[in-house]
Amino acid sequence: MEQTQELADGVPSLDPELGPTGRPLREFPDPAPLGAHGPARIIALCNQKGGVGKTTTTINLGAALAEYGRRVLAVDFDPQGALSAGLGVRSHDALTIYDLLLSRTVDPKDAIQRTATPGLDVIPANIDLSAAEVHLVTEVAREQILAGVLRKVSHDYDVVLIDCQPSLGLLTVNALTAAHGVVIPLECEYFALRGVALLIETIDKVRDRLNPAITLDGILATMYDARTLHSREVLERVVDAFGEDVLETVITRTVKFPDATVAATPITEFAPEHQAARAYRQLARELVFRGSVA
Ligand code: ADP
Ligand code: MG
Repeated sequence: MEQTQELADGVPSLDPELGPTGRPLREFPDPAPLGAHGPARIIALCNQKGGVGKTTTTINLGAALAEYGRRVLAVDFDPQGALSAGLGVRSHDALTIYDLLLSRTVDPKDAIQRTATPGLDVIPANIDLSAAEVHLVTEVAREQILAGVLRKVSHDYDVVLIDCQPSLGLLTVNALTAAHGVVIPLECEYFALRGVALLIETIDKVRDRLNPAITLDGILATMYDARTLHSREVLERVVDAFGEDVLETVITRTVKFPDATVAATPITEFAPEHQAARAYRQLARELVFRGSVA
């Protein structure tokens, strides 16, 4: 049993020895260099709630893994195109994930763009993707189309990160069918847990029917504010509900993220020494340590 000191109000204290999840703080080791690259493990960043940090996590986890020498492909799977914008790639007048879903003759390699971060590539999306669900409904094996697309490129990468849209529709089911693992970013706000049961149920259904090997790689607490009781209470509730599935790394709320978004630069480069940049490096190390990434 881990020791958690309790304050009078029942909230774990901010003992410097303990992390915000109530477990001891530890530094995960730097990942060993890879001798060879690929095939990739595919991770879907998924939560049907918007504004919880899916895109921010895809960008900054991707950049941090690239810093550690991993070859990373980020897939924009949201018609809003926030990932493409956040990484500063072209999403208009460019091949997008929509083109790859709709046509089997387009080579997915032709849609991949490099970013300013060495080792981090992206397949962009734009508003066209919002029409994809309608088109895919009548396709044979409509849930497996993205898996088929990624199969053609994943051998070149160590990890593929799919930035899902905020819904549990056919696109998200495609992402879950293509993925080896899921990371669920969860905002430390009241009602954060609402909807997570439905998401887990969707993952369970996909595991039963389409993708038996899919695992929950972890729940990532985001937008954490240690100064508010509210944030600490939510995190405590999340740990009560999901235990070891809650990643030890916690992402704090900071205005650096919106600033970095405007600059279309990962925080690891925009403000490399900021604690938010360090947090995403810690997340990268934790996922390697847990075996979610090579
Ligand atoms: P999602 O992809 O789940 O909709 P985003 O990653 O786009 O969520 O984040 C929503 C907004 O919150 C963005 O403006 C982003 O810059 C901001 N944001 C993300 N993470 C944080 C954070 N830890 N602290 C402060 N703002 C954040
Ligand atoms: Mg997003």
